[in-house]
Amino acid sequence: MKLFASLMQQFKDMLCCDICIKVRTKTEVGSSLTPLNTYMINVQSYSGRILLIPCCVLLLTAFCLCLLLFAISPAKADVQNSYIGFRFGETANNSATDGFASNATRIVVETSNAPESRLFLLENPYRLVIDTAHTNWDASSLPKSGRVSYGSITSYRYGNPEKDTGRLVFELSEPAAPIAAFLLPPNETDSSKVSGYRIVVDILNRGETAFALARAALIKTPYLATNQLDEIDNEDIQEENYSQSSNQLGQPQNKRFSGNVVKLLSPEKRPRRWIVTIDAGHGGKDPGAIGVTGTKEKDITYNASKRLAHHLNNTGQVIARLTREDDSFIKLRDRIAIARQHQADLFVSIHADAAPNAKAYGISVFSLSDIASDKEAALIAKRENKADLLGGPDLAVEDPLAANALLGMYQRESMNESTYVAKSILEQVSSFPGGDKRGHRFAGFAVLKSPDIPSVLVEMGFLTNKQDEANLKKNAYIDALTEKISDAILAYLNSSLR
Ligand SMILES: [Zn+2]
Repeated sequence: MKLFASLMQQFKDMLCCDICIKVRTKTEVGSSLTPLNTYMINVQSYSGRILLIPCCVLLLTAFCLCLLLFAISPAKADVQNSYIGFRFGETANNSATDGFASNATRIVVETSNAPESRLFLLENPYRLVIDTAHTNWDASSLPKSGRVSYGSITSYRYGNPEKDTGRLVFELSEPAAPIAAFLLPPNETDSSKVSGYRIVVDILNRGETAFALARAALIKTPYLATNQLDEIDNEDIQEENYSQSSNQLGQPQNKRFSGNVVKLLSPEKRPRRWIVTIDAGHGGKDPGAIGVTGTKEKDITYNASKRLAHHLNNTGQVIARLTREDDSFIKLRDRIAIARQHQADLFVSIHADAAPNAKAYGISVFSLSDIASDKEAALIAKRENKADLLGGPDLAVEDPLAANALLGMYQRESMNESTYVAKSILEQVSSFPGGDKRGHRFAGFAVLKSPDIPSVLVEMGFLTNKQDEANLKKNAYIDALTEKISDAILAYLNSSLR
């Protein structure tokens, strides 16, 4: 009898699950909410009545078949976690030096078990999305969508875009992007029974460009994790609570969060093939430097770029893309835009320079800097930037509010990364003529001004030097050189933390 009761209980659970799935798969018609609503279901308001009769029928049918069903039923969905609810608050923006005085909006999402979450941002309208693996909802009395008026947040909705993924969407009135995100474990010593794991995301409007960059950064690194315990000290939450039972989350908690900060999701080791955008310098009406015997830089760079792409693709670990597939003219800022379209992990611009001194020879690898490492580097950058007069994307003009913060937030890291790439390439090419002569240099190349993609520029040699020019015209030389550059790129991409 006990066994039967247990079987019945299991069946009831299963049935309940079936109904839930049916409810969730009913696509909402006429929602006023956003393009994402194909994933999001808002059945709360009418499900009770409309589904009453079908539910009874289903119940009866299912009852008759219960033992059979139980015997043949597949394993239940592997749902181990539940969203319990969420709440909002305000938190001080401690980085006052970045010029943004306003406080950040803090979103706290509670789950029953340790979540594996990914964050991403969407535009038109602005949205913050939190997807959590193996997560269902334990909030049947919480409407599946609703209006909110808190900070930048105007509405929320939740659902399961895939069977085993819980999704929570916050619609935003302005381009507010995460400035911190972390996970807190349950607070066991807390008498107010705040018992779940907490995903904490602080968002702040730093302008359109910052939002776009944060969006791109989250595509590459959706697990944003920081060790910002200091910020947590300024806790000031729970003006708005959204959960099944206000008792679950609603207890005022005017105290500090405690516990260890944990990553939201471990980075995957190598989730896909790396994407490297190879930029063949110059092209079309812009020949670039002209060699001693009339060699055009644009032809040398195109040939070398194709060879480099070939070597990289041959590794099976990289998808190499070119900014130009023929002899066409592309503005410098468009070259960056192409790399961004590719969602490139790395941007490598290939050049062969000229110098007033015919004796100048050798290989240089450049990364971006406001201050040139030497006079010649400054001259080279100036000449390369002449390819068009736009001089690259000027963030300060596009979005003055974002410009300062951006440099701090993203470009610094890109510049560090670029330095690693440059060093890796120089190590590999040291045995080529002049490969150990010039080293890693810095200058204000417009084409390297991508704030979110590590970017380097390789000057393979001087066309104004007789020997360099002769080498660069030889396919065998270009093939050997680009193979080494390919090795260096791969070494960089596979190095730790990538
Ligand atoms: Zn050039």
